[in-house]
Amino acid sequence: MCCDLKRRFLLLYATQKGQAKAIAEEIWQQAGTHGFEAEMHCISEMDKYNLETEKDPVVIVISTTGTGDPPDTARKFVKRIQDKTLPPDHFAHLQYGLLGLGDSEYTFFCNGGKTVDRRLQELGAQHFYDTGLADDCVGLELVVDPWIDGLWLALRDAFLSQQEKEGMSSNADTISSSLSAAPHDMDELNLSSEVRNLKLEDEGVRSSNVLSQKSVDIHLAASTRDTEPSLVHSVPPVSQSALNIPALPPDYIEVEFQDAHGENPHLSSLISEGAAFEVPVTRAVQLTREDAIKTALLLELDIADTVFDYQPGDAFCVICPNNIIEVEELLQILGLSEKGDYLVCVKVKQGTKKKGAAIPQHIPERSTVKFILTWCLEIRAIPKKAFLRALVECTSDVGEKRRLQELCSRQGASDYTRFVRESNVCLLDLLHAFPSCKPSLNLLIEHLPKLQARSYSVSSSNLYQPGRLCFVFNIVEFPTCPARPVSRKGVCTGWLAELVAPLLHPNKNTLDAKGGRPSTEKISIFARPNNTFHLPADPSVPLMMVGPGTGISPFIGFLQHRQKLREEHTDWEFGETWLFFGCRHQDRDYLFRQLRCFLENGTLTHLKVCFSRDSSTADNTPKYVQEVVRLYAKEVARVLLQERGYFYVCGDKKHMADGVSDAVVDILSMEMEVDKLEAMKILAMLREAKRYLQDVWS
Ligand code: FAD
Repeated sequence: MCCDLKRRFLLLYATQKGQAKAIAEEIWQQAGTHGFEAEMHCISEMDKYNLETEKDPVVIVISTTGTGDPPDTARKFVKRIQDKTLPPDHFAHLQYGLLGLGDSEYTFFCNGGKTVDRRLQELGAQHFYDTGLADDCVGLELVVDPWIDGLWLALRDAFLSQQEKEGMSSNADTISSSLSAAPHDMDELNLSSEVRNLKLEDEGVRSSNVLSQKSVDIHLAASTRDTEPSLVHSVPPVSQSALNIPALPPDYIEVEFQDAHGENPHLSSLISEGAAFEVPVTRAVQLTREDAIKTALLLELDIADTVFDYQPGDAFCVICPNNIIEVEELLQILGLSEKGDYLVCVKVKQGTKKKGAAIPQHIPERSTVKFILTWCLEIRAIPKKAFLRALVECTSDVGEKRRLQELCSRQGASDYTRFVRESNVCLLDLLHAFPSCKPSLNLLIEHLPKLQARSYSVSSSNLYQPGRLCFVFNIVEFPTCPARPVSRKGVCTGWLAELVAPLLHPNKNTLDAKGGRPSTEKISIFARPNNTFHLPADPSVPLMMVGPGTGISPFIGFLQHRQKLREEHTDWEFGETWLFFGCRHQDRDYLFRQLRCFLENGTLTHLKVCFSRDSSTADNTPKYVQEVVRLYAKEVARVLLQERGYFYVCGDKKHMADGVSDAVVDILSMEMEVDKLEAMKILAMLREAKRYLQDVWS
């Protein structure tokens, strides 16, 4: 009895979009079969656990959001542990293991986890297991899977040493033997008892232990001659391996269809971040020429009749639907074409084994099937392995079943990365590739994430254009690839482009175009929590802006605002303003030629432009903004260091923003005659002081 109790550990998760929670649930599920008992809580449920008195090991799974912040659900917890009055031995009794989730494309990778980890260490807590940092950019599972595998051994050691410390070594032996004798658990511990040798549930092979290669050959007859693996086809060694596949996630949602008319919920009910506003699109301008590689559009919204307000530099969110054709296709595959307009009543399945099962917050309890597929579920999401595992059960063809099992198995991990993750395969692609797979609506609700509203930077000033809000975006295009024979457009940008096609203004590339057809199209928007990407409060402070491509967007708002302030306050002092802009071709995608007007009226002091693909550009002319920034090293150093100016970067996060910060580090190092490490520290201080500001996206 005592040993059973001692095998308990506390499992906390801090999640923003559900990934940390899903991973914690996986740990919770596996724990039992390894002879442990996990007491799982969301880290925000601080009334349900107490780290101050916790004696058992603690496992924390925590993601990162925003610019390196812990998830919203961890805010209170982080605030509490960051209390400066806590003594350095506050958590000296605590043993913990932490798994951080993040995305290395962002500057502060896994910072949510790192912050908590660092603070727990400062307060005397001990690691019983090395911290894992999983990167969504390359696939969380690359770290998460082995981290969970190793956790069980580490937990066992933690319990043993805890017992030894308590001078109960005899009991420790008992625990040790009880753990190793737990129901075929330790045998399977290394392989994990949640993963097992594949057994095909086909009549012919139902009783066999391990899949015979022969049966696979029969069922994959059509493709066995191929030597190259693909989404649907495997080659040795994967095709010949016994597979370790994850445990089947317990189902927990039940849907009931009602052939009754009813109102779909208002889109406002889909967001938890304040109010949504339905506003007309009053203008649409194509900013790029037809032959540009990307098409950029500027949309203007009429917000005059709303209380929606913004400052230049703010971003806001657009609630967007899934592509209607894809929704229809899904309905057809799910066998729900006739029931698209039926009301669906969503409930938690009685007796489900899923811990803490609840209807996902983004699913209304009553709405039509179409509404759920159109507005609530990210049907383009890359299916996770747990989803693939669940899809195996809905697949009748034995060859297809095997391939799905391979893709979610440990042996098929690199195939999953290559053919699912890196190919950006979505559910529809899978259902086309595996035609005997017929999932149910409840499975989609269980496994597909929330359809997220998309963020856009405001590209206007409320002083300059009262009652109007403009934004600029590139229409995202995904060309065909072997796993996806159809090309697609981005969910939101594809939808917006279609919506505004009738109002595209014929006078392209003009900021102040008026007229065009009056629009009846409306979109729903809501405010994005405030950021610090704003003009300096003191207008006399100099600023430098770097915004190639659509990254120029917020700076148009800044400049409009500054222009208006200059007109209204002729006695004010205004600091110098620099703008670095870059695009591919001067005559195809120079988004705002009117920038010259800001130069002419003195709003902009320096405009530096570069073109990366113009063949006329001499070889030694800089092609990218980061190269141009380097040319002005002395000015950058002066503005940032002597004049306490602001430096803003907006646009592509990986290639451009990192290139610009590397350039600034080199400039600081050169101009201050310090080594690179010191220069990086200075840049970190400038970031901390909110004088080096980034608004970056992929
Ligand atoms: P999605 O369908 O979401 O696809 C976008 C991404 O998903 C791709 O870039 C790719 O990484 C991946 N992807 C999905 N399917 C595939 C596939 N088949 N093949 C390859 N990759 C795939 N964007 C702007 O244009 N202008 C702005 O001013 C702007 N401001 C932003 C401000 C903030 C604070 C943030 C966070 C983002 C901002 N963005 C901006 C980005 C914007 O929110 C959207 O991400 C972007 O418009 C794409 O949305 P989408 O729904 O059209 O594309």
